[in-house]
This record gives sequence, C-alpha cells and structure tokens, in this order.
Amino acid sequence: MSASVHDQSHRPLASLRVSVTDRCNMRCRYCMPEDEYVWLPRESILTFEETARVVAVFADTGVQRVRLTGGEPLLRQELDVLIGLLARDQRLTDIALTTNGTLLADHAAQLRAAGLHRVTVSLDTLRPERMREFARSGRHADVVRGIVAARAAGFSVKVNAVVVRGFNDDELVDLVEFARGHDAEVRFIEYMDVGGATQWSRDDVVSRHEILDRLARRYGTVAPLPERTRPSAPAARYRLPDGTAFGIIASTTEPFCGTCDRARLTADGHLFLCLYAQHGLDLRERLRGGASDADLRELIEGAWRRRADRGAEERLGVGERGVLYQVEGLRADPHREMHTRGG
Ligand code: SAM
Ligand code: SF4
Ligand code: SF4
Repeated sequence: MSASVHDQSHRPLASLRVSVTDRCNMRCRYCMPEDEYVWLPRESILTFEETARVVAVFADTGVQRVRLTGGEPLLRQELDVLIGLLARDQRLTDIALTTNGTLLADHAAQLRAAGLHRVTVSLDTLRPERMREFARSGRHADVVRGIVAARAAGFSVKVNAVVVRGFNDDELVDLVEFARGHDAEVRFIEYMDVGGATQWSRDDVVSRHEILDRLARRYGTVAPLPERTRPSAPAARYRLPDGTAFGIIASTTEPFCGTCDRARLTADGHLFLCLYAQHGLDLRERLRGGASDADLRELIEGAWRRRADRGAEERLGVGERGVLYQVEGLRADPHREMHTRGG
C-alpha cells in the first residue's frame, strides 16, 4: 500500500466522495430549494470507466474509503456496474453509498451483490406530508421500503436526518425510535450553510447541544461513546440508557476540519478539497487530454499537499453570517452547489 499524502495541516488524504450525477428526483429545501437549476452538460459526465480509473489513482495516493453520492446516485443507470469496478480494487476497504432511498428497494440486492459495503439513507421526517412539502416528493413509503430492503440485503444502514428548526426538530425521538425499529442507526446533521442552501439562516440550525438536551429530556442520561468509528469520522456517537446508539454531525457549530481527510470528485471530474472550496481542479480535461495515471497522481497529490482548507471553521468566524452564495452565484458556477459536489 502506498503511504498517504498529507496537507498543510498534516491531514492525510484517506477518503473520497464521488458524485456520480448532479441530478436529483427530490428538492430538499436545505439543498435544492430553487425551481430551476443549471445542470452539468451530459457529455462532461465521466463514464464509469473514467470514474473507476480516477478512483484507482486516488487509491494509489492512499485513499481507502469511497462514498458514492450525488445528486441522487441511484438515478445513474446501472450503478452496480461502477460498484463492481471499484470492488475489484482490494485497496478500497470501504465502499459506501449515500442515497435519498426513493429507488433503493429495487436496487439493494444488486448493489450488495456488486460489492457495496454500506448504505446511508437520508430521511428527515416520518411524516409523508412533511416530505411532500419540504422536499417536493411523495415517495416517503418508497424510502422506508428502501431501508427495509437494504437491511434485508445484508447492509448495515445509517439514517441521515438534517435537523431544521420548525420543520422536523419535533421528530428527534420519533427518528431515534424509527431507526431502532429498523435495525439502523440515526445520524442527526446540523443544517449547514453550504452552497445550494439559499434559505439557510442561523436561527434554523439546531445545535448538537440542543439535540442532546432534547433527547436527554425524553430518555434520561445520554452517554457519549468514547470513540468515533474512526478518528476522522464526522459523527460523534452517543448511547441511550437502553444501549441504542445514535450520532450527531455537528458540522455547523463544532466543525471537525482538523481531522478532515476527505476529497470530493464531481460527476464531471472536478476535484474539490473542501465542501466550501470556491474552486476545483479539472481532472476530466487532463484525463481526456491523454494524461497518464502518474500525471493524474502528481496533480492530485500536489493539490492535496497545498491544501489549507478549513471551510466550516472559517464560516464560524463570520460575524453577520448569511447564505454562502446567492442564486446568481450558484447559476454562474453549478460546481458550488451541494448537489453537484456531493454531501
Ligand atoms: N441525494 C442523496 C441524499 O440525499 O442522501 C445524496 C446526496 S446529498 C447532497 C448528501 C447528504 O447531504 C444528505 O444526507 C443531505 O441530507 C445532506 N445535505 C444536503 N444539504 C445539506 C445542508 N444544507 N446541511 C446539511 N446537510 C445537507
Ligand atoms: Fe435532497 Fe439529496 Fe437531492 Fe439534495 S441531493 S435535494 S439532499 S435528495
Ligand atoms: Fe472538511 Fe471542508 Fe468540511 Fe472542514 S468544511 S470538514 S475541511 S470538507
């Protein structure tokens, strides 16, 4: 295995989030609240072979964990083919998928057979009418079916819920109970002011502190679990008195940039070093221009060595904190969108 490359803060490059499409069949208000979007041109989207080649170069640099995301990754036809290509690489010890779950029930078994290891399903509410209003989707039952199918296929399942004040902050206990009942683990995510979140306001963020407080009121003592699943894992984990575990990703109020080992690859082959980074590095142009694997590796490692990004920490220091980008700024460069660079 190759030694990993470190950035300016001595953070290794160890994990890669790969967005396989910028398209989505939902319109979550914290991610895609607008009526219209500028999409990446179809011909710019990497083929599975191109994606697998780039991922293999990342593995050369020391990356061991890959998470497929989007947009909605299951909108990409035959995603299991890509997973099969990635699963052949023994250096990738963890291949995961983040999905909104609407199409998961029909694909879970196939994804498992192809070599996918873990699944995270985003589900913010247990009330279908809320989902209809908040995410413009009537497919709540399909998401629940997807979670059931993923467990039946043998996946360990996490349920991601972004907590937004006035929308679902009265469902924390219900979501814990739902996850427990479905043999899954819920992760509450603080609402982030990432690109795309054009309706973000500080007042709508429900902090880790407040989430814990509310759960303690219902369950009694909530004990922190001593360790994250690994030091760079975004979620801090906790245990209820009956042993039920859950996680909180405090990306807004207590960012974890200090241990961030994640790079992001967009569906059109741009490398981003941070969720908040303004600019990416176009690997597709090089790839299609005839660059060798060694050339690509040099580019990636050089970019990582120069990396000084600590986006969420820097946002903490912004006094009058509003949205990161106005709609015009997002339209001018869709790479700034959360649904393009992958959450
Ligand atoms: N469509 C898939 C899904 O929703 O799971 C994958 C892509 S989505 C961008 C990945 C994750 O980002 C989801 O769990 C979503 O809840 C999260 N996310 C999107 N916008 C967010 C925001 N403004 N704050 C916090 N999390 C956000
Ligand atoms: Fe929602 Fe995920 Fe689609 Fe964003 S990409 S709108 S979080 S389902
Ligand atoms: Fe990593 Fe950037 Fe997120 Fe900080 S804000 S944890 S550096 S991706």
